[in-house]
Amino acid sequence: MDLNERPVHELLELLAQGAIRLEEVLADLEAAIRARDQEVHAYLALAEQEELLRDAYAKSQTLLRGLPIAVKGNICTLEFPTTCGSRLLEQYRSPYEATAVRRWKEAGGTVGGITNLDEFAMGSSTEHSAFGPTRNPWDLGRVPGGSSGGSAAAVAAGTALAALGSDTGGSVRQPAALCGVVGLRPTYGLVSRFGLVSFASSLDIIGTLTRDVRDAALLLSIIAGGDPQDSTSLPVPVQDYTSQLRPDIRGLTVGVPKEYVPGQLGAEALALVDRWKAVVEELGGRVEEITLPLTEYALPTYYLVASAEASANLARYDGVRYTLRGVGRGAAEMIAASRTLGFGPEVKRRIMLGTYALSAGFFARYYGKAQKVRTLIAQEFTQAFTRVDFILGATAPSPAFRVGEKVDPLAMYLSDIFTLPSALAALPAVSIPGGKVGGLPFGLQLIGPRLSEARLLSWALALEEALS
Ligand code: GLN
Repeated sequence: MDLNERPVHELLELLAQGAIRLEEVLADLEAAIRARDQEVHAYLALAEQEELLRDAYAKSQTLLRGLPIAVKGNICTLEFPTTCGSRLLEQYRSPYEATAVRRWKEAGGTVGGITNLDEFAMGSSTEHSAFGPTRNPWDLGRVPGGSSGGSAAAVAAGTALAALGSDTGGSVRQPAALCGVVGLRPTYGLVSRFGLVSFASSLDIIGTLTRDVRDAALLLSIIAGGDPQDSTSLPVPVQDYTSQLRPDIRGLTVGVPKEYVPGQLGAEALALVDRWKAVVEELGGRVEEITLPLTEYALPTYYLVASAEASANLARYDGVRYTLRGVGRGAAEMIAASRTLGFGPEVKRRIMLGTYALSAGFFARYYGKAQKVRTLIAQEFTQAFTRVDFILGATAPSPAFRVGEKVDPLAMYLSDIFTLPSALAALPAVSIPGGKVGGLPFGLQLIGPRLSEARLLSWALALEEALS
């Protein structure tokens, strides 16, 4: 029956009506995983089918009726190792689970498996995983994007109903765009970071990868809300985003920044952006061309801020408290050996860049300057939102690229030029399927003001309905 291809909200309805049974959903999912995951490699670990079934029975009367989601490999669970896609944490088991996971389980959901990612979420293709790359289900020669590539690919391949990911500079939205699914990055602080392994703490947030916008609202309603265990979480009460969905953009002004239109992609992509604008007008919205001139500074700003924070956060991996330990005479040598063995090249690059940017004498010139530019970028958005209700553009500058194509780090970093600015500004943004370019999925990104999730998802739903 291909129940694995249905959105969660639809399955919940069918289950409530008694039209399907949970065993059927789990059986379809398992069959899809058997048929596809060998080649896609979205998963690092999978739950036993019997266990899922047993859990599901126990939870059949709950809100989520025992439905499983996939969880990115940098989000702690009690059931699986939390490897972060790194050799260093290959055997690491967390003694606690992430708040988002705990809330999903308390609402009656289960965890179906752990998904692949770029090591410590650093990357845009999932090629930087120590456990091998994930492939794009649309074309196995291409990447799924990253760093939540496993989560996006699993939803796209029908091997997960929905998934959690993390977005520091684009890692939920860009893979969603490249895999043709919906990716939501909530406002910074709206979802607790407790149990999300830290990369860049001022930017990290857990987001969702789902088959449609309604599921994004459903998942967010469950995982969002203040958490005493994360002092950066916002004291926002739990809300039902689903009941607030109003797919109506009549009378709204939609800003399309000229910087977010991927001109280099040629006529097909430009025609697609024109189609998006036409759809906005057909739905009764007004399109305004805007400009966000600081967009070009987002990439250097992000790589200074994120790498600086990463260098501090990753200092805890000393070979003593976590799994992998190198050999050396004395503590310093042992720590160096552990880190040399455990970290991959991209993680080492970030640690070196970040340590340099924070070092005495360079702090003001690099990290301090980047913080100032970050503030200016945030102000530029605040300014824009005095004139427009939300911002619309491409999620990524290109559709899925080939495995092995981007060897130059800068070329890889450029995959995130449209997702970095809003991350720096702590804004919520969602990527929905916007059509095809070169036969591959191409994402449409909507960015809204802080804590505008209920409206942002409503606008996204209106566009999703009109575009599909
Ligand atoms: N691709 C960006 C990076 O490599 C963003 C990663 C992320 O959002 N986790 O840092």
